[in-house]
Amino acid sequence: MELITEVNGRIEKLVPMITADEIQARIQELGRQISQDYAGQEVVALAVLKGSVLFFADLLRALDLPLLTTDFLGLSSYGSRTASSGVVRLTQDLSRPIEGKHLLVIEDIVDTGLTMKYLLDNFQTRRPASIRICTLLHKPAGKVVEVPMDYVGFTIEDKFVVGYGLDYDERYRQVPFIGVMEFQDLP
Ligand code: 5GP
Repeated sequence: MELITEVNGRIEKLVPMITADEIQARIQELGRQISQDYAGQEVVALAVLKGSVLFFADLLRALDLPLLTTDFLGLSSYGSRTASSGVVRLTQDLSRPIEGKHLLVIEDIVDTGLTMKYLLDNFQTRRPASIRICTLLHKPAGKVVEVPMDYVGFTIEDKFVVGYGLDYDERYRQVPFIGVMEFQDLP
């Protein structure tokens, strides 16, 4: 069902693209795959704040990895509200060293790939044992740089999506589905 909000003198409409049930079903599949791939290993699951928090929380509960630990990294990208600028700022660093660790980076969306490239370059200098990327969404049409994605939830077309962690102007992160933003002037 569409979500309609009146804000700042116009109407914002969130038109569903991926339902909450579809997201949860895909997370179970990803969870099984990741648990198999890392069976018996010590994995550090890294959430990239803020967009990946809902995905992170649900995916972690779908993993069967008793030795798993977690950490958080804050990133914010400059630029317009609905386009990636590729200029990234580290707003919160990891709380512990990652040298010799198996990293599973959990992201909300890979669009241009510039954010992930920045992260990978930054992490490589800290000499982890391995790095894999798990992204809920991938927009191949936006690609500027190639990044290796080991686990992808959904491949989507080139639209600005919101919900399930993803924001528009910091709103809609709490929405349980993923939708496309549409705007209308008030009558
Ligand atoms: P990239 O650097 O790959 O272009 O984009 C990564 C970041 O841009 C994401 O982590 C996310 O914060 C933001 N982003 C890219 N596409 C979208 C989108 O469709 N919706 C939202 N809400 N954010 C996006």
